[in-house]
Amino acid sequence: MSKILIVLLDGLGDRPSRSLNGMTPLQRANKPGLDELAAEGVTGIMDPVAPGVPVGSDTGHLSILGYDPYKFYTGRGPLEALGAGMDLRPGDVAFRVNFATVGDDWTVIDRRAGRISTEEARALGEAIREMAAAFDSEFAFDFLTTVEHRGVLVMRGDGVSDEVTDVDPHMEGVKAEMPRPRSPGAERTARELERFLRKAREVLESHPLNRERVRKGLRPANAILPRGAGKMPRLPSLRERYGVSCVVIAGGALYRGVCKAAGMDVRIVPTATGTLNTDLNAKFNAALESLKTYDLVFLHIKGTDTASHDRNPSAKAAFIERIDKELRARIDQLGDVIVCVTGDHTTSSVDGRHHGDPVPLLIWGEGVRRDEVVRFDEVSCARGGLGRIRGLDLMNTLMDLTGRVEMFGE
Ligand code: ZN
Ligand code: ZN
Repeated sequence: MSKILIVLLDGLGDRPSRSLNGMTPLQRANKPGLDELAAEGVTGIMDPVAPGVPVGSDTGHLSILGYDPYKFYTGRGPLEALGAGMDLRPGDVAFRVNFATVGDDWTVIDRRAGRISTEEARALGEAIREMAAAFDSEFAFDFLTTVEHRGVLVMRGDGVSDEVTDVDPHMEGVKAEMPRPRSPGAERTARELERFLRKAREVLESHPLNRERVRKGLRPANAILPRGAGKMPRLPSLRERYGVSCVVIAGGALYRGVCKAAGMDVRIVPTATGTLNTDLNAKFNAALESLKTYDLVFLHIKGTDTASHDRNPSAKAAFIERIDKELRARIDQLGDVIVCVTGDHTTSSVDGRHHGDPVPLLIWGEGVRRDEVVRFDEVSCARGGLGRIRGLDLMNTLMDLTGRVEMFGE
């Protein structure tokens, strides 16, 4: 049976840009490898969730992996916590948190705590973890920092609820309100979370690292502000659904988290940064290597989305060219592999936002019908043989091409 390589370019879809003479970055990029795959394979466009629905990376990925986000999405917290390496069980409640600088009355002075570094945040996070382990509550708490001022907080225990309000007001100069229950069943969760946040503040205010920051005239990270409470869902794994072994290669915590929730193993590439300066060579090497032992390899590359948010269409085109070079150099070594290249949503490099436009999609390999499209971009692929599909259709399409879907009917 053929193996499957999915190359997921985050925020790949785009809109025409004046600075590129009315072309999208993908149209502008010189990418002979991707064009060759498009010419030899089948193409199409895909609505990650539905036409005209702008989606986040989390819901986009869920859908593309075959999980209806309207059914399975419970917020970004659980997926991010999972991706950060926390051991989450279905039913646990996870929050995304920021280290922030707040005043005596919890007015938010700086949502990023003076751009605290990942290393400093980690040291403070250790202190919070220790406090959490000793914290006397009917719920268990766990905390982990991720990148810079960001982290995740997990609550576990009987009756823990995700029906609590955000503490992070999402802007500065406004008071961070303590969590409130959104339903009667969430009262205990809100109360215990508030106790935890107040205790965390004590720990942070007296931490030597923060004292040192204040001495240097820097803003202390003196509070943690949770938001986006979500309950860890139970997803039927890809192995249960299709009998495949899978692995994800991704720099960002969120992508690892979504894939882990789908039952994938995680392969860490230490030089994969999840940014434009990532080590593409190492990531593609890891993907090729993983194809020897796994049925499905999910290679996630974030830089395309980053360049879009930076509103830099030329940087996006240049990054696509780098990806193309790495992929092209390996096409001949792939062997019996079905390759799929697509995105999880459109991110416009003109306005820097996610949009509901469909994304281009190509599938290449033995037994794949060949359509008449010879270029891989948003406009050409719209004439492709796959037509316009939904994210939810992708897994079935790939699994059927590789003979892994059971017939419906007699
Ligand atoms: Zn994305
Ligand atoms: Zn994005």
